[in-house]
Amino acid sequence: MKLNELTIKQAHRGLEKKEFSAVELTQACLDIIAKTDKKINAFISVEKDFALAQARAADKRIADNKKIDILEGIPLAIKDNICIEKIKTTAGSKMLKNYITPYSATVYDKLHSDGAVILGKTNMDEFAMGSSTETSAFGPTANPHDLKYSPGGSSGGSAAAVAGGMALGALGSDTGGSIRQPASFCGLVGFKPTYGRVSRHGLLAMASSLDQIGPLGKTVDDVRQILKSIEGQDSKDSTTIDLKNQKLKSSKKIRVAVLKEAMGAGLDPEIKSKINEVIEKLNKLGVEIEEVSVSEIDKALACYYVIQPAEASSNLSRYDGIRFGQQEIKSKNLEEYYVKTRSVGFGDEVKRRIMLGTFVLSAGYRDAYYHQAQKVRLVIKNNLDKVFEKFDFIISPTTPTPAFKLGEKVDDPLAMYLSDIYTAPANLAGLPAVSLPIGKTGKLPVGLQIMGPQLSDYSLLDFAEMAEKI
Ligand code: GLN
Repeated sequence: MKLNELTIKQAHRGLEKKEFSAVELTQACLDIIAKTDKKINAFISVEKDFALAQARAADKRIADNKKIDILEGIPLAIKDNICIEKIKTTAGSKMLKNYITPYSATVYDKLHSDGAVILGKTNMDEFAMGSSTETSAFGPTANPHDLKYSPGGSSGGSAAAVAGGMALGALGSDTGGSIRQPASFCGLVGFKPTYGRVSRHGLLAMASSLDQIGPLGKTVDDVRQILKSIEGQDSKDSTTIDLKNQKLKSSKKIRVAVLKEAMGAGLDPEIKSKINEVIEKLNKLGVEIEEVSVSEIDKALACYYVIQPAEASSNLSRYDGIRFGQQEIKSKNLEEYYVKTRSVGFGDEVKRRIMLGTFVLSAGYRDAYYHQAQKVRLVIKNNLDKVFEKFDFIISPTTPTPAFKLGEKVDDPLAMYLSDIYTAPANLAGLPAVSLPIGKTGKLPVGLQIMGPQLSDYSLLDFAEMAEKI
C-alpha cells in the first residue's frame, strides 16, 4: 500500500517501527497533491515548506523516543476557516483572499503539540455557507470518486483531500452538516462533536450557536484519535464544556431508534435499501431497533435556515474592509467604501444569507421568524432528549441523495438547502453525530448518520465502530 493511503493507525505503527520517516510520509502526500490537485482542487493553499519542517521536527522526536503519540508525524489537512498563525486563512472568500492570521486556533495548537504535520488549508464553500464547495471564490472541488460530482460541502475540500489520498485525516467545521454531508459523499467517516466539546477559538465564526469543529478520516478510529487531540475546555471559548466530570453511560443492550421522518418521501430508494441492510445486520448482532417518530423534526430545516442566516449576518458584519476584509478599494466616502467592499468581496450565497438574516432580525419580523425559530429549536431539542430517555442512539441516512453533479443545484438554493435535512437537527440540539460509509450506489458512496445524546461522543464512536465492522 502507498504511504499516503494508510490509515492513521497504520501510519503510526510504521513510524514507530521506523519503517518510514515522517518526511517520507509527508512527501508522499505532497507528491499526490502535486499530481492530482489541479483536477480536484481540494486545497486553497498547500504549505509545503511548513509541512516538511514539521515532519523533520517529528522525525527528530521519533528518533529520540521509543513510544510516540498517535498523531506524531501524521500529515493532516485543515479547513480554510481555521486559523494558523502567519498563514493565509480565506474561508473560501474573496473578502479574505490576502488575510494572514495573527494567531492560531486552539485546535491547531493542540494538533501541533501532539506532533501532527499540517499540509495546508482546504477548499470550502464561502464562509462555510453551502453544500457543494461551489460557493468558494477559489472554484469548486471535485469528488475523487467521480470528478463530475460534488464532494459535498462546506468542508468538501477536507473530504476530497482525505478521499483522494492527499492527507491522512482532516478538520472540518459543521454548522448544519458540513462535516457529515461531505464525509457521506466521499465515503469517509465524519464526526460533529457535542456542541462545546471542541473549542471554536480561531474558527471564523459563521453561526456561533451551531458551529462545531470536528474530524474527517478513513476509519472511526482515525476520527477518534483526532477528536482526542482537539477536544477540551478552553478559556478562550466560554462555551466549551469541562469534560472531566462527564458520566459515561454504558448500557449492555444497545437500543437504537430509526428516525421515521427520514425514511419516507424524498429519500433515494437505493440509500433506503442500504440503510435497511445495515439495520438488519445490527439486529442480528443483538441491537434492539425500533422505528420512532420525532415530532416537529420536520420543521428543523426551516428553523435552521432562520437561525443560521440571523447569526451569520451579525458575525459577518466585521468584514467591513477596515479591520477585516478587502483593503484595496477606492471610494469617495465611508458609505461607498462599505458598499463596494461588500459587493466585490462577498459572493451571491453569502449576500443572500446576510439579507435573509437581516430580514428575520428586523424590528417588524423578529417575533414572527427569529423568536419563533428559537422556540421551535427548543421543542426539537426536548423531543430528541425524550427519545434518548429510551434509546441510546438515533440512526438515519446522512443525506437524502448520494453526491450530485457539480452545477446541478448551484442555481437552486432551496434544492441545495435540502441536503441538510437530516443533519441540521444535531446542530440545533447541540448533539454529537457521525456519518459512516455503508457502501455505494454505482460509483458514489452512501452514508449512515448516528446521533447520540449530549456528551455521548465516545460511546457513539464505539457503536459506529461496531457498525463499521459489519
Ligand atoms: N449546508 C449548510 C449551509 O449552507 C451547512 C453549512 C455548514 O454546516 N457549515 O448552511
